[in-house]
Amino acid sequence: MLDPKQFINIDSYNSYEKDFIVVGTGIAGLRAALEIAKTEKVTIITKSKIIETNTNYAQGGIAVVLAKEDNFELHIEDTLYAGDGMCDKNSVEILVKEGPERIRELIDLDIKFDRTDDGNLSMTKEAAHSKNRILHAGDTTGAEIERVLMEAVLKNENIEIKEYNFIVDFLGEHSILAYDTVEKNYSVINFKGIILATGSIGAVYENTSNPKIATGDGIALAYRAGAVLSDMEFVQFHPTTFYKENTPRFLISESLRGEGGILRNKYNEKFMNRYHNKSELAPRDIVSRSILSEMDMTESKCVYLDMTHLDKEYLYKRFPNITAFCKDYGIDISKNYIPVSPAAHYMMGGISVDIDGKTSIEHIYAAGEVSRTGVHGANRLASNSLLEGLVFGKRAAETAVFESKDIVIKKNKNKFNTVKKPYICYNDLNKLITEFKSIMWEKVGILRDEQGLKEALNKIELIIHKIMNYKFSGETIVDGLEFINMLTVGYIIIEASLKRKESRGAHYRLDYPQKNIEKKIYYSFSKNID
Ligand SMILES: Cc1cc2nc3c(=O)[nH]c(=O)nc-3n(C[C@H](O)[C@H](O)[C@H](O)COP(=O)(O)OP(=O)(O)OC[C@H]3O[C@@H](n4cnc5c(N)ncnc54)[C@H](O)[C@@H]3O)c2cc1C
Repeated sequence: MLDPKQFINIDSYNSYEKDFIVVGTGIAGLRAALEIAKTEKVTIITKSKIIETNTNYAQGGIAVVLAKEDNFELHIEDTLYAGDGMCDKNSVEILVKEGPERIRELIDLDIKFDRTDDGNLSMTKEAAHSKNRILHAGDTTGAEIERVLMEAVLKNENIEIKEYNFIVDFLGEHSILAYDTVEKNYSVINFKGIILATGSIGAVYENTSNPKIATGDGIALAYRAGAVLSDMEFVQFHPTTFYKENTPRFLISESLRGEGGILRNKYNEKFMNRYHNKSELAPRDIVSRSILSEMDMTESKCVYLDMTHLDKEYLYKRFPNITAFCKDYGIDISKNYIPVSPAAHYMMGGISVDIDGKTSIEHIYAAGEVSRTGVHGANRLASNSLLEGLVFGKRAAETAVFESKDIVIKKNKNKFNTVKKPYICYNDLNKLITEFKSIMWEKVGILRDEQGLKEALNKIELIIHKIMNYKFSGETIVDGLEFINMLTVGYIIIEASLKRKESRGAHYRLDYPQKNIEKKIYYSFSKNID
């Protein structure tokens, strides 16, 4: 197992005692902190600036049962169906039934969801939802959620925020090591309870809709601490990200298809009706594989999303962010097709938690995308993840306070050994990172098979072998430590994908294209039981 402390020199460090720590400033972390702060002091730590989160990039919206024609049973049914038999029904029921109350709290914080002309909340539909239940704020819903939660957090006297602090590792049960990326120093923080809300893993793939921060740190941290991880083979690939060679991907939200967008191949042919009876609104894994198949058949690097038949004024108003982004690339979405292709988007698995956010390790809790609550199963229903962050962020916080508030914080004496190794230079590190991400994309992506997965494992072992010879310093510390986490996460995704010898939800095996309907198996990993 890769130990990040073997890659850095810790000559000195500061030491702090904090009651409760929340790592992450996305929807799950901010919601959890607000709950803890009702009675306790809490410190929120993020490795970047507050708003640099996946939450802030979320576009389409947040699913919730509020419409008269909708009901809990339908949302539960849709979620279970998308999860392809792998959801925990109890968690799904909690998600759906507690959702409306969590949304009303956001409305009380004066969130500006879009409304209809008569002042009611405007709701749209996305793939595999049977009713219109997606609340949205233009096509920047995540940024609006982040704004209201951040404002509430900044006003709260029980909450302290530490930006630009990278959590490196756990040091025993109630202690973590942090690296201040501005001051360039280390600190050991002792605490009563900690909630990991560190988000996604998208950055382990060459092509992703996720921002750079999504390096799976929380999953790797928890794994090294001995926590159980589950469902790590279930990575969701979003069918439509903006495609332009040598340009980072940008999400073209599913709500464009929800509003009537049509996918066309390079010969201008509609094709989704050949793959699924719900056409453009088929589940994401099916749309992604259909797009790959069309790209393959037409020897093309992308397909196209056609919005040109829709009302121009409505399009501009409903999707201002996507309109502006495309315009920067010379595309008027009311006149031109948008070039799109799939990219890694969301991790359904993660740190195993129960319905109260408890991991398998006492006083370590997890919420949001880093956790595996069982609400997404093998495939997440669109717009359920923001809701998960709210519902389970609150629950994890309540549990952390209940279980940890009487803990007496002990100051540990930490001794860090210095390993003598040369420092890697930035370019060499970057080359290894690029090679790793490309292996993950080519061999552990939308279509998998045993040969490719084993090749990936061998190649990643070689990369691990190389990186073990070096240390990080200065400008390579954060990228290097994130890389150690990405290698750990990538390795586990491959192992889980090898184990699942069937195709289910987002996990598709070319060599096992059928679902094993007789046996439903969950794969879990822990350094203590491997
Ligand atoms: C482009 C895009 C569009 C999306 N659209 C939607 C949508 O419309 N609806 C929906 O429901 N979902 C959507 N999703 C998914 C959803 O945004 C995420 O699942 C959700 O926001 C995750 O929230 P979170 O709080 O768990 O993590 P995040 O919001 O990602 O926050 C993670 C936090 O952890 C911090 N962190 C990570 N590692 C460390 C470390 N080592 N030390 C310190 N801090 C650390 C980060 O800096 C960050 O503050 C979208 C995702 C993307 C990328």
